Amino acid sequence: MSDASCLFCRIVAGEIPAEVLRETERTLAFRDIAPKAPVHLLLIPKEHIPSAAELEREHADVLADLVQDAQHLARAEGVDETGWRLITNVGPHSGQEVFHLHFHLLGGRPLGALVG
Ligand code: 5GP
Ligand code: ZN
Repeated sequence: MSDASCLFCRIVAGEIPAEVLRETERTLAFRDIAPKAPVHLLLIPKEHIPSAAELEREHADVLADLVQDAQHLARAEGVDETGWRLITNVGPHSGQEVFHLHFHLLGGRPLGALVG
């Protein structure tokens, strides 16, 4: 279940390079190409799910894996003590640009207001 026209499916397939930091059976994590904070990672399911709006109960395991990835990577990137933020965008008002579910893991400086 991948989409050949989807940027993140192509990263999962190894067709587009990325700085991959963690890979599990169901998930992949890599550095954002245009970081908004000292730590800015993208955590994605390998399966093509367009956004959080399409999540079903059957995705419970992959969602749990993504949260565990975030915990692991926050430690690995040294922001577990200072704190971090995990966010996902859905649709036009959120500014979602890539329509393959991803969580942004941000940290490494005070992140300011939740909404700019
Ligand atoms: P969105 O706006 O959809 O929530 O976030 C998409 C994110 O993907 C942006 O932060 C953007 O910088 C990042 N991005 C876009 N293209 C690429 C790419 O080719 N490689 C990587 N690593 N990140 C990308
Ligand atoms: Zn995809």
